[in-house]
Amino acid sequence: MNYDIVVVGSGFFGLTIAERCANELGLKVLVIDKRDHIGGNAYSETDPVTGIEVHTYGAHLFHTSNERVWRYVNRFTSFTPYVHHVYTTHDGVVYPMPINLGTINQFFHASYTPDEARALIAEQAGELAGQDPQNLNDKGISLIGRPLYEAFIKDYTGKQWQTDPKDLPASVISRLPVRYTYDNRYFNDTYEGLPTHGYTAWLETMVDSPDIDVLLSTDFFDESQPYHRAALVGRVPIVYTGPIDRYFDYSAGALAWRTIDFTTEYPETGDFQGTAVMNYPDLDRDYTRIIEPRHFHPERDYPADKTVIMKEYSRFAEEGDEPYYPVGTPEDRRRLLAYRDLAAREEGVVFGGRLGTYQYLDMHAAIGSALSVVDNVIVPHVRDGVPFDLVRRSLIS
Ligand code: FAD
Ligand code: UDP
Repeated sequence: MNYDIVVVGSGFFGLTIAERCANELGLKVLVIDKRDHIGGNAYSETDPVTGIEVHTYGAHLFHTSNERVWRYVNRFTSFTPYVHHVYTTHDGVVYPMPINLGTINQFFHASYTPDEARALIAEQAGELAGQDPQNLNDKGISLIGRPLYEAFIKDYTGKQWQTDPKDLPASVISRLPVRYTYDNRYFNDTYEGLPTHGYTAWLETMVDSPDIDVLLSTDFFDESQPYHRAALVGRVPIVYTGPIDRYFDYSAGALAWRTIDFTTEYPETGDFQGTAVMNYPDLDRDYTRIIEPRHFHPERDYPADKTVIMKEYSRFAEEGDEPYYPVGTPEDRRRLLAYRDLAAREEGVVFGGRLGTYQYLDMHAAIGSALSVVDNVIVPHVRDGVPFDLVRRSLIS
């Protein structure tokens, strides 16, 4: 074995581990990925018809308040000043998202001040006063009251998750801020922007090291290729960022995921919808939103007579589909605990990233979590000679 560590999966989690191990710790790193490109779901490519950069696995907006992550990512790319805004079309009218004073006043045809709007929403959320909502339905109503919840959240969530909002964790909706000002920035974070030369250029810079080898189209579970699970586990430290249930052959049952089908269209106009993301919360359309990627880079010289749009249709992932969003029903959470137990006993393997931990992780969170694994597991092993397994176990327990 010519490698000091093997990283399974070249998403942001895996690439951060690989980059730090090679450039900071001087290790020889092998990264394998079953796809034919690096970058996991953050990968982007140039649309062949329009020349517009498209995010192959769904729109990816970078944002963070983590100083360390922001400094780290700026080593590999600069960022444009793009600030994300989302609009939503309900009952034929366009409103700003996330819900803010503009949405509230437009919806109620009113001119409430922030205090008046707060009082109104508190009254409309009164049915749940004093409770600590644990599911998406109750959390949504307690945040914005029933009328706004039913207009903008209930059916959108139904289309997105096809799961009773009472069975979804409250954390899904907590990602969306609610503001009593006219600020309709989608994210609250200190730093935000898009990589100036695109995601793929950023990702390629991260692996641009003589100490990192990348093997694409290589599945960790394919025993016909040399770097598979049975050949590696116990012989070399492994950072595994694929699905945790797949690693254990689904022995505790399959964890549920949502996937997205994207349909691509080429309207003959230089601007289809005037903004990057338009949500459709009503049931008259099957898709949840339309992305028009040209708006992510207004600074670029894109064609004036054509554009590209993607409609997103969400459904349960079946075998062979890309797992996108962990569903996280109570049954999933029970299964996850069983897998965590197995992972704690799997010698020489760290499980990380959104698939390896069955968690929705934004890019900055995946990168931040990988930097912690380097600090807490890999550095003590490499610099202080602590056996990989001992540090790994103390991290899990
Ligand atoms: P991934 O990017 O999923 O990488 C895992 C890699 O492991 C993949 O390349 C996969 O091919 C590989 N792999 C899996 N199994 C195997 C195997 N058996 N053998 C070899 N390789 C394997 N984050 C944001 O910050 N902003 C956003 O706007 C945003 N939008 C998103 C939109 C969508 C639709 C989705 C799904 C996610 C979005 N994210 C966003 C989250 C972002 O994609 C994740 O933070 C990021 O993907 C996490 O990186 P990761 O390395 O953990 O996982
Ligand atoms: N959501 C909604 N209406 C919207 C936007 C979001 O109901 O117009 C809910 C939905 O349940 C979604 C969650 O809020 O899953 C988080 O939204 P976000 O935009 O973060 O979803 P993502 O971009 O990850 O798909």
